[in-house]
Amino acid sequence: MVGGECSYWACIPSKALLRPGSALAHARALPGAKQAVNGSLDTAAVLAHRDEFTSHWHDDGQVEWLRSVGVELVRGHGRLAGERAVLVDGERLLTARHAVVVCTGSRPALPHVPGLAEAHPWTSRDATSSAIVPPRLAVVGGGVVAVEMAAAWRSLGSEVTLLVRGGRLLERMESFAGELVAEGLAAAGVDVRFHTEVTALHHHGPVTLTLGNDGELTADQVLYATGRAPRTDDIGLETIGLSPGNWLSVDDSCLATEVQGGWLYAVGDVNHRNLLTHQGKYQARIAGAAIAARARGEQPDAVRWSPYAASADTAGPPQVVFTEPEAAAVGRTFDQAERAGLRVRAIDHDLGQVSGAALYADGYRGRARIVLDLDRNVIVGATFVGPAVAELLHSATVAVVGEVPIDRLWHAVPAFPTISEVWLRLLESCRDERPDGAV
Ligand SMILES: Cc1cc2nc3c(=O)[nH]c(=O)nc-3n(C[C@H](O)[C@H](O)[C@H](O)COP(=O)(O)OP(=O)(O)OC[C@H]3O[C@@H](n4cnc5c(N)ncnc54)[C@H](O)[C@@H]3O)c2cc1C
Repeated sequence: MVGGECSYWACIPSKALLRPGSALAHARALPGAKQAVNGSLDTAAVLAHRDEFTSHWHDDGQVEWLRSVGVELVRGHGRLAGERAVLVDGERLLTARHAVVVCTGSRPALPHVPGLAEAHPWTSRDATSSAIVPPRLAVVGGGVVAVEMAAAWRSLGSEVTLLVRGGRLLERMESFAGELVAEGLAAAGVDVRFHTEVTALHHHGPVTLTLGNDGELTADQVLYATGRAPRTDDIGLETIGLSPGNWLSVDDSCLATEVQGGWLYAVGDVNHRNLLTHQGKYQARIAGAAIAARARGEQPDAVRWSPYAASADTAGPPQVVFTEPEAAAVGRTFDQAERAGLRVRAIDHDLGQVSGAALYADGYRGRARIVLDLDRNVIVGATFVGPAVAELLHSATVAVVGEVPIDRLWHAVPAFPTISEVWLRLLESCRDERPDGAV
């Protein structure tokens, strides 16, 4: 379907499922509003809202847009058939003058566990499109899909158990993000279990999961959210000397590095630079510009910040986890920055102390961190965790990607009383960190 995973089985339906639960939680956190909120979510209305956002799994709207921008759509299974050639459904051969771009995305990666196939587990597709709320849902995983789907189905009434192999959630973010999200899930009634490995499943109507040395758990449905694999096993990679089933490695213009002749590009999840919609679209803009430039016989500039070289999709692109609280991060975490050899300091602030946050919700709990590069006096990473912090993230993205000096940021005054005022507190701490007291 035109629009891919994001439109029908990922970002859009998952956020449509999550938003009513957050709206309810926010209303319940506000004196005066909470008295007006009785009862729980209307499940049928939430699912209908989700169905609207996926256009009931029809892609007519996106097809129309594609045509409006002059793109010819050929439906079918495409396979590479040698250099610059793609065969559709084994019948129609398309030959490119300049380039072929592989954008086949990713799919759920399932581990080898006895009884898993027989248990017919949900993957992200089922978890975002189900019309049925399972009374008991076991979610395996501790990453973004696992925590978001645990939150969404819990808000719709499922009894959810989250089974996490390691000791924390959201491992790629600052550790406090996972801690606050785990607290939020627990407060919503999700049973979060760390250090829990599923070693076998037994399907007998419901599913019984064997949990390592920790007994058993019976659920009506089990969701596996244990990572992604490239959708490259059946796209004819063998016809151009590559191995099927692998991610496609690319340079910064998204040109495949293991293919001679400079004609194959890979954009989006399939190149494994970053598995996020907005980064795939960013890469598409870069690759499109590079292909057009090369077709004109130019040598596009590969330096950082050139329109022909992706540079903002590898070292921590912006990402939001839409749980309650939300977790939003951009750039490097403190540990990642240290590992990259930077001399950094983490500056934290309790978001609940900011007037805008206190006004937003009674007992607002949240935390903000910026990672300051002490040698260049710029921010190389930022993390916000708390209700409604998603919209704060772009300010940090501008500061990190734009490498805005702290002294200049001091003049970017946030409006009072917004949650963004946390920037002032963070910048004051930066000033206090400077031995000369200057900002
Ligand atoms: C539950 C969930 C929630 C997510 N939420 C977010 C979010 O909130 N924000 C965010 O930024 N990212 C989110 N993501 C990630 C995001 O969905 C992906 O990064 C994005 O969809 C990748 O886009 P893509 O174009 O690379 O691949 P895809 O969206 O997977 O699209 C690939 C397309 O190629 C087609 N295709 C594959 N093989 C062939 C073939 N041989 N011939 C013809 N067509 C083929 C497929 O049918 C599909 O239409 C989420 C992911 C999941 C699973």
